[in-house]
Amino acid sequence: MIKTVFSASLPIDEKLIIQKNQIQGAFPGKRLCIVTGTHGDELEGQYVCFLLSEFLNKNTDKICGTIDIYPAVNPLGIDSITRGMPGFDLDMNRIFPGAKDTSLSDYAAYSIVEDIKTADYAVDIHASNIFLREIPQARINVDSASALTGLAEMLNIDLIWIHPAATVLESTLAHTLNSLGVKTIVIETGVGMRITPVYGQRLFNGIINLMHKTGMWLGKAPENISKPIIAATDAVSFVNAVDSGIFLPEKEYGVMLKKGDKIGQIVKPLSGEILSEVFSPDDGLLMTIRAYPVVYEGSLLARVIHNS
Ligand SMILES: [Zn+2]
Repeated sequence: MIKTVFSASLPIDEKLIIQKNQIQGAFPGKRLCIVTGTHGDELEGQYVCFLLSEFLNKNTDKICGTIDIYPAVNPLGIDSITRGMPGFDLDMNRIFPGAKDTSLSDYAAYSIVEDIKTADYAVDIHASNIFLREIPQARINVDSASALTGLAEMLNIDLIWIHPAATVLESTLAHTLNSLGVKTIVIETGVGMRITPVYGQRLFNGIINLMHKTGMWLGKAPENISKPIIAATDAVSFVNAVDSGIFLPEKEYGVMLKKGDKIGQIVKPLSGEILSEVFSPDDGLLMTIRAYPVVYEGSLLARVIHNS
């Protein structure tokens, strides 16, 4: 059932409406929220929401509990290909928990939190930006690692990246929900402004697996769930451009590399020169690869998680 979470009039006869699809199982159980579209230029979650809505609507007889799917937390951003909320010049994932009776954006954030805060679990799906491709991963801060790692492992992802507490932004939706007792996993996957179907399918299977493991899904359990690498920030090596030019990758993200393997090269189209070759700094998993070809000295080209 489609429900309105927040509605407000805009100046010229238009409306800002945030909606969700609430799928009620035939049996009582836990409540899971799938949230995406906080950043309007990250679209990987749209496909996951479509797959879940389509599948779960047809299978309510196998569901214990409630699934709420929020495909567009920031609909104005999605409509205008903008990361933040257009017109407000702000990143929507920096204003949570929001507040009532203040600005439109704060009130929208507040209403989303109010709607989700009684859930048991939430999955907040983000994509990378247009510059980088990322393997499917969960990003968890070290303070909540013990509470969330087990849940993140169910999601059929390749990596759980544990961040130090100092980098935690308290104004994110995920931090707000976790502090209210909703176990919330942030997923980062794919590339900005595009959909990577194979990763969407994997997350769909991962979410059904999470439902199965938490007693919300009575149907068949998905098979071949991937076991993610769990890595701290110091296990990740960054590869940056040493020249400005056009980056031509030679490896697919998600592959295992040996130290010294060639990842790609930076070339100069005007003269036909190869400016520099790019090599893996470690043995490990290529978790990130540059998607946008134009690079400047210092641009991030790749991230490799080295084997511990
Ligand atoms: Zn994002």
